[in-house]
Amino acid sequence: MVERQRVVVIGAGAAGSAAATALKQVAPQLDVVVVGAEGRLPYNRTTVNKGLLTGAVGDHEVGMPGIDDLGVSWRLGQRVQAVDPSARLVELADGTRATADAIVLATGANPRPLPAAIDPAAADRVLTMRTASDSSRLREALATRRPSRVVIAGAGLLGAETAGSLHTVGVTVTLVDPAVRPLSRHLGATAAGWVHDEHLPRASTCGRVSPSPRWVPRATRSP
Ligand SMILES: Cc1cc2nc3c(=O)[nH]c(=O)nc-3n(C[C@H](O)[C@H](O)[C@H](O)COP(=O)(O)OP(=O)(O)OC[C@H]3O[C@@H](n4cnc5c(N)ncnc54)[C@H](O)[C@@H]3O)c2cc1C
Repeated sequence: MVERQRVVVIGAGAAGSAAATALKQVAPQLDVVVVGAEGRLPYNRTTVNKGLLTGAVGDHEVGMPGIDDLGVSWRLGQRVQAVDPSARLVELADGTRATADAIVLATGANPRPLPAAIDPAAADRVLTMRTASDSSRLREALATRRPSRVVIAGAGLLGAETAGSLHTVGVTVTLVDPAVRPLSRHLGATAAGWVHDEHLPRASTCGRVSPSPRWVPRATRSP
């Protein structure tokens, strides 16, 4: 009997799920395994800092349509830690290995860490914004800590959108970015202004964009 060819897709985000979908469409006989570090099926990440954060969209509404019926194997909550193309092997963090006739890398992006170490005493107050879990952690922090102000490091699209979302739920936000006109390098000054006007209501303290080239951890800050 001829063994089925196996493709291992690493990353269960938009790219990974689109690759798995396309593979099953063009070659339904393929054994497709999708490994994803997040412990859930692929979802619409664009909602993470918008509807999911404000509560306008429920967690059960962000799944990708048809994802349950793809006919692929999911290894979720698992990180691939090594690939050996010559041996056609993929090694997962739990030590298990999977053979692969082909490997698709769809590992996406991660938030860039701050250049300075975060004071461990304040670490639970510093959150990233990338995943549905990040969004629910921030929502929970808003509900339990009721902060009077949130500082967002980075006034690109994600920072501006997140500021707009927080503003709609009544949180005052300070956006901090080393660029005096964030996004203008990518979009030009006019379009960058439109993006910020869209997300940051002018008449509010939300949306103050201040240049701040350096982060200083509390432990080393001068008195
Ligand atoms: C908060 C937020 C809001 C956004 N809003 C918009 C928007 O409104 N409009 C728009 O067009 N775009 C938006 N984007 C951008 C869009 O979501 C990305 O372009 C898209 O998520 C990219 O998909 P991806 O599959 O390449 O990567 P990702 O979505 O990053 O998915 C990669 C996946 O791979 C997993 N992974 C990484 N390493 C491993 C490993 N070693 N083993 C196993 N799994 C691994 C990760 O955990 C992740 O789940 C937004 C992005 C974010 C973060």
